Amino acid sequence: MAGIKALVWNEGRQKNSDANIERIYPRGIHGAIVDALSRDVSIRAEAATLEDPEHGLPPSRLDQTDVLIWWGHQAHDAVRDEVVDRVYKRVLAGMGLIVLHSGHFSKIFKRLMGTSCDLKWREAHDREVLWVTTPGHPIVHGITDHFVLEHEEMYGEHFDIPEPDETILISWFSGGEVFRSGVTYRRGMGRIFYFRPGHETYPTYHHADVQKIITNAVHWAAPAHASPSKYGHRPEVIP
Ligand code: ZN
Repeated sequence: MAGIKALVWNEGRQKNSDANIERIYPRGIHGAIVDALSRDVSIRAEAATLEDPEHGLPPSRLDQTDVLIWWGHQAHDAVRDEVVDRVYKRVLAGMGLIVLHSGHFSKIFKRLMGTSCDLKWREAHDREVLWVTTPGHPIVHGITDHFVLEHEEMYGEHFDIPEPDETILISWFSGGEVFRSGVTYRRGMGRIFYFRPGHETYPTYHHADVQKIITNAVHWAAPAHASPSKYGHRPEVIP
C-alpha cells in the first residue's frame, strides 16, 4: 500500500534559541510530529527544514507530497517567495496543508487566507481547554468532547481570518480569552486545516490528543485524486 505521503516542515531555528526546547524536542518539533504520524501505518512521514536546499521543498518533492504540515515562528520572512508560490500552487492543485500554531503568520497561510491572520497572544502558562464544536468530524475522531493542555501560550480573538468553512475546535484559556483553534478551508482543490496549539516551550506535540488530531487531519486533507477540471471555452454538452 502506497500510503499518504506527509511532509512535516519546520523552520528549525528554535533549538538554537532555548536549551529547554531541545530538552522537550531533542529531534525538533518536526521530529516529534514525524514520530507521531509514523505510528499510523497508512502514513509515510518525512521532515524538511528551512536550511535544507530549496527549504526542503523542491518541485519534485512537493509534487510527491499529499499533505504538508507547517510549523514556523521566527523565520517566516526567510522563506523565499518562489517556494511560497510553489506551495500555493500545489495546494490549489489538491495538496493538503496543515498549519500549526505560529504558522498563522507564515507567508503561505496569509496568502491563502488573504487577511492579516493577526491575533492576541500571551506567554503566561495559561491552562487551555479545547472544546469540540463539530462532533463527528473526521479530524476529531477519537476525541471526547474536550481535552486539556495544562500549560500553553494564549491566543485570543479576534483572529483575523476569513469565516472558516468549519470551526471544529474552540479554546478557552485560564486568563479568560477564547479562540477558534481548529478551522478548515478549501482553496482550489486543496484542503487546509489550521490547528492552534504548539508553542515551542511546551510539550504539546507529545500530547496524545494533539497527535491524534494531527494524524486525523492528515487523512482528512489527503487529496482525493479527482480528475482535474478543464477550464475555458468549450462546446455545448447537448449538441
Ligand atoms: Zn508560540
